[in-house]
Amino acid sequence: MSDANPRESIHAIALPKLRELLVEAGHPGYRGAQVLEWVYEKRVDAFEMMTNLPAGLRAWLNDRFAFHILEPIRVQGSKDTTRKFLFRLGDGALIESVLIPASPALYGEDSDRRTLCVSTQVGCAYGCKFCASGLDGWSRNLTPGEIVGQIIRVEALSGERVSNLVFMGMGEPLANYKNLRSALEILNAPWGVGIGARRITISTSGLAPQIRELAEQPMQVRLAVSLHGARDEVRQQIMPVNRKYPLSELLAACEYYVGLKKQRITFEYILIREVNDTLEDAEALVEVARKVDAKVNCIPYNVVEGLAWVRPEEPRQDAFMAVLKRGKVTATIRREKGHDIEAACGQLRRQTLPVQNAAN
Ligand code: SF4
Repeated sequence: MSDANPRESIHAIALPKLRELLVEAGHPGYRGAQVLEWVYEKRVDAFEMMTNLPAGLRAWLNDRFAFHILEPIRVQGSKDTTRKFLFRLGDGALIESVLIPASPALYGEDSDRRTLCVSTQVGCAYGCKFCASGLDGWSRNLTPGEIVGQIIRVEALSGERVSNLVFMGMGEPLANYKNLRSALEILNAPWGVGIGARRITISTSGLAPQIRELAEQPMQVRLAVSLHGARDEVRQQIMPVNRKYPLSELLAACEYYVGLKKQRITFEYILIREVNDTLEDAEALVEVARKVDAKVNCIPYNVVEGLAWVRPEEPRQDAFMAVLKRGKVTATIRREKGHDIEAACGQLRRQTLPVQNAAN
């Protein structure tokens, strides 16, 4: 079933709203907490299983809401590696979620940290040039139920608890801001999935106005910006969004975020040989990172079939990192897991879909 079904997804409803609807329908408001306890603590997937609720209430819930369970059509990877889940939604659209175990080097052998990379749209309109998700263009926004549903379904399929979320899957999360906000409320709330706000990272291609909106909402979520170029002429070759929100505007929005949230943000920087990995690029990156006191996460480019760019050799990566270090920028390089199963966003979906014209 899909969220297109007239019955709303139970995973899209916040407790205050559910209480209100219950009272309007003549049921006691306190039943709302009981319903969501079945949904998020006991993880049932049918209203009939909510055995402490009166039959009339279960019937009402069943008329009004549905469990729109995401259908897994492919899982790649194993328990100790990055695992990618390809899901089919009710309308046949495909999205993916990626479960990433803790790096033993960073968190120790026994860490139960599990990070889920979540999608927020089907396809993406932003056409970042390194990204497979942008190649097919944008189809639609995910509903709050489809966003929350990814966590629920991955936990059920893997038997593991997700401790951290990164909104870095398919789509630009801030272009689906309203649904993202609704999903975040449910993901963060103690009556919902209960993931701490500081364990949730929103990654954006650089939508300056929505960065400001995100700064103004109360949740202390983390912000990561896909920078990939520290000079306009370089960045706009990689990130078409830079024409709309050039670096000056983006950095001003980042400063605003940092000022209100009192937390450091991260700049993601994919290193692409001879595109953005020169020493001059590194110097420019030092300047912008210091301006907003951002941490920098460098990621050597993953080759995408159909794109001409290549990954710089390690000595070239090291020279770039040395400039950041000299510039006193906190920077890491992620020679990441998942390279072997093509972990860059959108790639699993593309292997399954017929390849269309490269849009954007
Ligand atoms: S990197 Fe993100 S914003 Fe850019 S095209 Fe890919 S999914 Fe869209």
